[in-house]
Amino acid sequence: MDACFSAFDDDGDGFLNIHEFDSICKGLFRNDRGIVYSLDADRLEHIFSIFDTKKDGLIDRQEFVLCWDKWIKTIVRPVSVFLIIDVQNDFISGTLNISNCSAQQNGLEVIEPINQLLDTVNFDSVFYSYDWHPTDHISFIENLSLRKLDSSSPVSAEDAKPFDTVVFEGCPKIKQRLWPKHCIQDSWGAQLYKDLKVVDNAMKIYKGTVSDVDSYSVFWDNKKLSETTLCNQLANLNITDIYVCGLAYDVCVGATAADALSIGYRTILIDDCCRGVDVDDINLTKNSVIKNHGVIVQSHEVKAMVEGRDRRPELGYKLALELEKSIQNSKVKHIK
Ligand SMILES: [Zn+2]
Repeated sequence: MDACFSAFDDDGDGFLNIHEFDSICKGLFRNDRGIVYSLDADRLEHIFSIFDTKKDGLIDRQEFVLCWDKWIKTIVRPVSVFLIIDVQNDFISGTLNISNCSAQQNGLEVIEPINQLLDTVNFDSVFYSYDWHPTDHISFIENLSLRKLDSSSPVSAEDAKPFDTVVFEGCPKIKQRLWPKHCIQDSWGAQLYKDLKVVDNAMKIYKGTVSDVDSYSVFWDNKKLSETTLCNQLANLNITDIYVCGLAYDVCVGATAADALSIGYRTILIDDCCRGVDVDDINLTKNSVIKNHGVIVQSHEVKAMVEGRDRRPELGYKLALELEKSIQNSKVKHIK
């Protein structure tokens, strides 16, 4: 840390000014061929101000400790999880084959690039999620008669078709998109597709296991009433970066990426390892990931990122924003 500080303290005054900090960022944010990524001036200034905790326009050696320990070290040596979402028979060739949806995408096409990543990239952990429903699940159009629709439902039980959204009675009311029966617990349709590689020591996460609430995100159900074990497991593994992919792009992959970002993880969505339901919704998913400081990459870019040789400024900025929040929270606690 001291050597780094001294190396970038060009004028040797014992402080890093914004220009010297800019040189650190130019060293950090590069691809694996050494090409520097541009970091816009506003973001540079914002990151600098987060580490300039005394707000005197300079970073001293004491302030640099946080920058080094919590920011630079993570950027250079991230701890990465590969989260493969719902690559199950029913979504590829079963009852909810996504090729029958409006985007007409083929779920089978994610298998080869995902297997390639599993073969070539040394992720710190690999997780597979399963959509895993009881037979009376609320999301199945076949189960419409099991629950009463609220008078505010935009579609009646008689008129409802697959992929429509209805509102069920309840307190609170439950808005639910209707899907054909799929991924019944322990059925063939809920198994991972046979050609998907399953690595040793991988973790499995089951979601959508409760009858009366659907669960798109691998973190929480859609009402955030219950959570899976994923949050705790990632925290125990000291994960910093989440690589998400799988099926369906604009449903469970998108919801999981949104939650990963909201929790504060550096989140990377692997575009060519996802297939989805609706083209407009896929575009909304992509826009939301980018707006919330995640990145969207192709699978050939992943290896260098996991190995810390390709370091993206968006992810550095995201991490700085999370550190800013934790500094503010600790100040609030201190005042209390
Ligand atoms: Zn489902």
